[in-house]
Amino acid sequence: MEKNRRIVLARRPVGAPVASDMRLEEVALPAIGDGQLLLKTLFLSLDPYMRGRMSEDRSYSPPIALGDPIVGRTISRVAESRNRDYAVGDVVMANSGWQTHFVSDGTALRKLDMQHPSLALGVLGSAGFAAYIGLLEIGKPKPGETVAVAAATGGVGATVVQLARLRGAHTIAIAGGADKVAYARDVLRADVALDHRAPDFAAQLKAAAPNGIDVYFENVGGDVLHAVVPLLNDRARIPICGVIAWYNLTEAPAGPDFSPSLVRTILRRRALMEGFVVSDWLHKQEQFFADMTKWIDDGAIVYREHVVDGFENAPAAFIGLLDGKNFGKVVVKVAD
Ligand code: NDP
Repeated sequence: MEKNRRIVLARRPVGAPVASDMRLEEVALPAIGDGQLLLKTLFLSLDPYMRGRMSEDRSYSPPIALGDPIVGRTISRVAESRNRDYAVGDVVMANSGWQTHFVSDGTALRKLDMQHPSLALGVLGSAGFAAYIGLLEIGKPKPGETVAVAAATGGVGATVVQLARLRGAHTIAIAGGADKVAYARDVLRADVALDHRAPDFAAQLKAAAPNGIDVYFENVGGDVLHAVVPLLNDRARIPICGVIAWYNLTEAPAGPDFSPSLVRTILRRRALMEGFVVSDWLHKQEQFFADMTKWIDDGAIVYREHVVDGFENAPAAFIGLLDGKNFGKVVVKVAD
């Protein structure tokens, strides 16, 4: 008999998560009541924010309770329905978390009618939306300005690179390793692509930005931010999307305290740093979806998925994501 397989938080990670922080369980499939649906997961999205939800720190969303399935967006198919708005076979975007089945009451679902529904987790989902909001609503690049972004081949960064280029900006893509750098230059068509792991990365960045940096789309923090700050121009804009280099920190990073020079630069340059979370921008979601669908159809925006086969491989893929092992938006293929 079919069971629900789920991956729960077994222990709160200390530093980088390890496989034993997560546990695969099998439980009986629940029966559905009136108005409910049984969803079967087709794709599970893996995203860096999940690391934050594994900790107890105060954030914009509550932590995952120990023993609960890890949170996550899914593309799911309706397997049973006692809800008149959904029929068996409908494909929806849901928040089922890391499990193969989920009982929904029909709220917070979005019906999808797409040839490749997994894109609703990536370029047409939160990753693309974060790029769209952060760059166009906060970064606001003008033609000829310089835009820099790291994690530039990932779900968010690849879209930032291409949107910046479409806006006529001089675009600097920063990524880890030769393959990703080549992809950012040749496929995403950044003006310059740099490897943040190069020993002389800061010097390379300075040479790539002879007119300084007007928009730094912050995905990573860490050494990339340190290299960017001295290059910021007056009235620079820094949308803070994420700081993945620091998600596993257990104490202040080694080395000198960087905060005085950062805050002094923000003051002297009259720069804007603004954190944002896509869930605050839902009023722009329909517009985003229409714009991005058109750009994809026109070939103006390309995307790359990193598809992991098999639900049981989610923990290893998630650990790899935090360490740059992914190449594109990570989705786990759970079922056909
Ligand atoms: P990615 O697909 O970009 O994967 C993460 C990438 O981060 C890795 O592949 C790696 O790329 C890079 N990375 C990891 N550690 C470091 C480091 N120390 N220094 C530099 N780069 C590093 O993930 P997403 O596109 O899903 O997410 C990108 C960022 O956007 C994350 O910070 C995430 O939390 C944030 N985000 C925020 C949202 C919001 O609403 N604010 C919504 C969605 C995402 P490489 O090998 O190239 O270094």
